[in-house]
Amino acid sequence: MADCIFCKIAKKEIPSDIVYEDKYTLGFLDIKPVSLGHTLVIPKTHAETLDKLNENTLGSLIAAVQKISKAINKISEGYNVIQNNKEVAGQVVHHAHFHIVPRKSGDGIHWERPNPKFSEKQLREIVDKIKQNLTN
Ligand SMILES: [Zn+2]
Repeated sequence: MADCIFCKIAKKEIPSDIVYEDKYTLGFLDIKPVSLGHTLVIPKTHAETLDKLNENTLGSLIAAVQKISKAINKISEGYNVIQNNKEVAGQVVHHAHFHIVPRKSGDGIHWERPNPKFSEKQLREIVDKIKQNLTN
């Protein structure tokens, strides 16, 4: 997409601190890092969200995420892998991407997580809805 910042980064029209590259994917440092080494991993072809990626692209992307995660794991105490889809879920750039966030003790990063309770009926209904909407 012409006006997509991640497409421009993938085409090297905008410089980035690249940590990994293969034919289908690019890994580079987030310009607003949560921690030192916070890396974004993107497909080189545009897709807005994870569900829009074709299977081959997703396969390459997740393999790259694991490869970079292995490197980050060697230089940190742990790491988070985060993937947001659509604004309501915190997606800022509308080009599918994974975050890999290196972690260390006392880094102050805390993911807020509400813990709502649901009835048995609600749980059975949502299981059915998800199953009914699965497609190949
Ligand atoms: Zn894009």
